[in-house]
Amino acid sequence: MRDKALSEDEVMRILEKTRERDYSYDRFFSTMCTLPHPIAVRAHDMFLETNLGDPGLFPGVAELEERVVQMLGEMLGCPDACGYISTGGTESNIQAIRAARNEAGKKNGNIVVPASAHFSFDKIGDLLSLEVRKAELDSELKVDLSSVESLLDDRTVALVGIAGTTEFGQVDPIVGLAVLAAEQGLHLHVDAAFGGFVLPFLERDWRWDFRVKGVSSITIDPHKMGMSTIPAGGLLFRGQECLSALETETHYLTKARQASLTGTRSGAAAAATYAVMMHLGREGFKEMVDYCMDLTRHLVSGARLIGIEPVIEPIMNVVALKVPRPVDVRDELMKRDWHVSMTREPNRALRLILMGHMTHANIDLFLEDLDEVCRELI
Ligand code: PLP
Repeated sequence: MRDKALSEDEVMRILEKTRERDYSYDRFFSTMCTLPHPIAVRAHDMFLETNLGDPGLFPGVAELEERVVQMLGEMLGCPDACGYISTGGTESNIQAIRAARNEAGKKNGNIVVPASAHFSFDKIGDLLSLEVRKAELDSELKVDLSSVESLLDDRTVALVGIAGTTEFGQVDPIVGLAVLAAEQGLHLHVDAAFGGFVLPFLERDWRWDFRVKGVSSITIDPHKMGMSTIPAGGLLFRGQECLSALETETHYLTKARQASLTGTRSGAAAAATYAVMMHLGREGFKEMVDYCMDLTRHLVSGARLIGIEPVIEPIMNVVALKVPRPVDVRDELMKRDWHVSMTREPNRALRLILMGHMTHANIDLFLEDLDEVCRELI
């Protein structure tokens, strides 16, 4: 650190210059986050210094968090669900599996996740000393139930299904997983970090949430399709026992027990999430999902016109395109200032997320570049 102080103006000038180096969302196809709704930004600013880690000092924002959990529970088929606003999908997944492990009370445990699971489950294996067993996918890139069954044993502490996979936006057969979980008396966690704010607003009912009896916990991220500010994750449990399995004594805080992973945690993200949910209601979220699905159809039909097919027919606003030499295509597109990403082997493809910040006009420009790049590379 410097010895001498810098004036506020000088510091702000450094920050402004630095901020100019960040890219802008309108060319982002790679991220599952988006520009927060303006009301989320206002609410975030208003609650900036609040700390949900010590809720007795901030009963106002603590109540907003409870309301958010209740609204999410209602949306996902369990109005009595309990949980909290975490820092994102990774923390929610860690905590859901930690609760399952603590409840099961087994040593040298394992969890069974789809091969398509987000890399947060690899962190979980390491953090919680659990073996992470990866079940095979079927031809549509959903988890294969017989593969899941073959990996279960008496050391298994949880089963995981994904409602909206990170790479393909696919939905696992949650009802089938719930049957397996019930047969074995296992915790079933559904990772809907992305899909949680998409699936309830699609025409087809995918039967993936708490309405499916065996679902024990759900990850759903307001900072993705929920249009809240970062960091806003959601963790919901069907029953209080799971939350209790996470609690430690706090000794010096206003609440005697704490279930969250972090101690000090921002109330701003909870307030921002509350504001967006209240302001948009189901109607507003449906409008946003409709818009993103329209973008998705526009992209896929344009890609087909230049001879490029999706790996699977998109279910949500996540598209994986079968392009020749995907690594080179990705690199060339990045040089043209398009931020795109790729899916993993063995289904390497160009991965595109159609968020609310995207437009038809930019998709058209992108498709022109994609066509040119593919032609140059063949
Ligand atoms: N789960 C899924 C399905 C995701 O797609 C992601 C991130 O994209 C995560 C978990 C991790 O979320 P976060 O980056 O908010 O920790």
